Amino acid sequence: MSTDNIIDGKAFAAGLRERVGSEAAQIKQAHGLVPGLAVVLVGDDPASAVYVRNKGEQTREAGMQSFEHRLAADTPEANVLALVAQLNTDDAVHGILVQLPLPDQIDEQKVLSAINPDKDVDGFHVTNVGRLWTGGDALVPCTPYGCILMLKDRLGDLSGKRAIVVGRSNIVGKPMAALLLAESCTVTIAHSRTKDLAQRCRESDIVIAAVGRPEMIKGDWVSPGATVIDVGINRVDAPEKGLKEDGSPKTKLVGDVDFSEAAEVAGAITPVPGGVGPMTIACLLRNTLVAACRQNGIEPPAI
Ligand code: NDP
Repeated sequence: MSTDNIIDGKAFAAGLRERVGSEAAQIKQAHGLVPGLAVVLVGDDPASAVYVRNKGEQTREAGMQSFEHRLAADTPEANVLALVAQLNTDDAVHGILVQLPLPDQIDEQKVLSAINPDKDVDGFHVTNVGRLWTGGDALVPCTPYGCILMLKDRLGDLSGKRAIVVGRSNIVGKPMAALLLAESCTVTIAHSRTKDLAQRCRESDIVIAAVGRPEMIKGDWVSPGATVIDVGINRVDAPEKGLKEDGSPKTKLVGDVDFSEAAEVAGAITPVPGGVGPMTIACLLRNTLVAACRQNGIEPPAI
């Protein structure tokens, strides 16, 4: 099997981080502005802790300031809201990200709504959702933005292409559909009630899988030459890798697309891991830079 059609998200993300870093250096030199990203982590979920640490490292590598706020798992909602209010008024902080999920005593929506929309680098605030759908200056959710960058890099102009987004969540599916529409694609949004999903996918030039079901999208759902972007991250048992110390099978990550089948027919396809995943933090850095520029009356770089 040729690997020419595999999109290397790791390399693409490294290139984006480098561009963000070099733009940040120029902005610092010209304006004395150092973009700052504050990340709030409540609780000690190990996966979230690793993710937050990676964000911090990559933020500093791009020449930006990183502020990490780690709060105990039993922190009351009022304290989280107070921290967000403080970050909203801190001039050194241009982007605020509250790591999800939050513990049960905290209303996620209430916290996300408390973030100043101009600092909402996750793009989840209702103001940014509205701006995105109405063509305004939104901060766009990082994962779908990363998908669009990879699609445009591979395909150039997306105008007129038939795109299907499988999944309609607020963080991936819906913003993904809005971005494809803004690129003048003809967009189908599919979900668990969609009929003839395989056929709907087969009719599409671009298939975006954001479902959370391991290898659901099969090779014969993909039309020859179509571009497949797999957002899914699913951990499954991998008995072929042997056993863990406790006797249970080792595990591996797979996407929502049956990669080995789909790669045989797709014109281009993202693997899991190493496809969409690495783009998310790179786009977060890009959003922080854009937010810092906008808050200081500087034209943001076109990246
Ligand atoms: P959600 O669970 O919020 O949404 C899943 C969507 O898939 C829903 O709209 C659901 O439909 C739809 N769906 C579920 N089953 C089917 C089915 N059988 N046929 C068609 N549609 C179906 O997930 P997220 O959007 O948050 O995440 C999706 C995937 O992307 C996950 O694997 C997640 O881990 C991954 N992810 C990866 C990121 C990255 O950085 N690469 C970032 C964020 C997420 P309905 O609305 O009808 O229930």
